[in-house]
Amino acid sequence: MRLTALALTSILGTANVVAQDRPNIVFLFSDDLTAQAISAYRCGLDLPATPNFDRLAKGGMLFENSFCGNSICTPSRATVMTGLHSHKNGIVHLGGVLDPDLPTWPRALHQNGYTTAIFGKWHLKTKPVGFDEWAVFSGQGSYYNPDVFTKDGRRRIEGHSTKVVTDLALDWLQRRDASKPFLLMLQHKAPHRNWKPSLTDLALYRDIQLPEPDTLFDDYEGRVAAANHKMGIDAHMRLGSDLMLFRDAAEAKPLARMTPSQLKSYLGAFADENRAFYADPPTGKALVRWKYQRYMKNYLRCVAGVDRSVGRVLDALDDAGLSDNTIVVYCADQGFYLGEHGWFDKRWAYEESLRMPLIIRWPGKVKAGARAKAMVQNIDYAPTLLAAAGLKPDWDVHGISFLPILTNGGATPEGFRDTIYYRYIDGGHGVARHSAIRTDRYKLLYFDRPRNEAEKKHRWELFDLQNDTQEMHNLSLSSEHEQLLASMKERFAHTRKFYGDTDESVWRAGRGKRYADDAYLRAPRKRRK
Ligand code: CA
Repeated sequence: MRLTALALTSILGTANVVAQDRPNIVFLFSDDLTAQAISAYRCGLDLPATPNFDRLAKGGMLFENSFCGNSICTPSRATVMTGLHSHKNGIVHLGGVLDPDLPTWPRALHQNGYTTAIFGKWHLKTKPVGFDEWAVFSGQGSYYNPDVFTKDGRRRIEGHSTKVVTDLALDWLQRRDASKPFLLMLQHKAPHRNWKPSLTDLALYRDIQLPEPDTLFDDYEGRVAAANHKMGIDAHMRLGSDLMLFRDAAEAKPLARMTPSQLKSYLGAFADENRAFYADPPTGKALVRWKYQRYMKNYLRCVAGVDRSVGRVLDALDDAGLSDNTIVVYCADQGFYLGEHGWFDKRWAYEESLRMPLIIRWPGKVKAGARAKAMVQNIDYAPTLLAAAGLKPDWDVHGISFLPILTNGGATPEGFRDTIYYRYIDGGHGVARHSAIRTDRYKLLYFDRPRNEAEKKHRWELFDLQNDTQEMHNLSLSSEHEQLLASMKERFAHTRKFYGDTDESVWRAGRGKRYADDAYLRAPRKRRK
């Protein structure tokens, strides 16, 4: 016999029924999926449409100015979980390990009556805490036939990771404890480097030429640190391990994880294109253009898989009658370069990688099709999502709840932040350590560890985002902008102080503490011959 809501009230008391009225949360996360690749964003180049992201945006609110505080996977993820910038949550670089004792918003939801689960790319090294169920990848995970770690050990699941993660999540959704509100985190590996789309998507975009960004052949004039990058499509993107350009199956070692039938289909899909390349190999700018096309097509094919996953989740919520009381959040851990400035990868405080796509649907609470302009950051997710569940973080967070923006049609509340803070410390891909602030119009970058004499002389970069959307003109070098530079420097010092960030705090945060269970999620190392 099914109990009616009224009967439940009398048995369990009012509090429990109130708990059931709290919204469910589906948190859709992907890795390196940049706003320029989502057609609802309408920013950057005219790239292929993403119908399911657009469907989500049509039903919810799109944040035009959503940013990360440290544009790289592990640090951004730790910030999303804790509501704290890197120097405070301890994960300042890619190799950081999340302290399992740190409070997080999923854990707070779990402690307050939510049933919780996470599937896919976790990348915070220690075991997930605060989840009834988890099945996560080790580190970056694998595109094909990923190993999935659970409380009960490790198993390999055949298929493409985007579909594998979606299947796991939707299976849990069906068999969850339906007496509680739920949090479901579905976190894709795609479209992270080294781009390997699903076999289903390999024919997409084959016969079209994608448009190129204006800055594909940037000369970095006035931006000394940028010139010393190691993330160029030209010099640093590899034909084999990045672009999967192989003469034959014997060369295709980066695809070794595939089954023989997967490998055959994969190589078959590129056979004509690869043969044409080797028959008349392009050089110089023509080679950069060829690499750009191959890179972008594989990246966007990975995005198409994530888009399809978003559609499957929205359909599943509809089918289960859950859509009305479920908040669906879509975001990625940071932005990415799709050839802008000649780059792939992320890390910089320049717009493309600073930006995090963020779309939130909550029928009846969030105005459908709205676009918010306020500058929100990944430090805000913890307080916002807890506020949506009627809770407050019981720890100090750097972020602020933007629930009022969600429930007020996207309008920016009076007194909302006018400056965001950024600090990148990792140092990989030749990207010099730097901090930054951004207002609605200007951005200031400061390079605190110059690596040569030229960088020493050019520690500051200043951009006018209104008149220079591509950030090509460093105004810190112009005498006309001395006053603006001085006021931005003052704002920078104030913001840094506001968040309590010092060189000492970063050093302390990044000491590399070890935790008891941080080896569990590591795949066994292959022995070197
Ligand atoms: Ca990432």
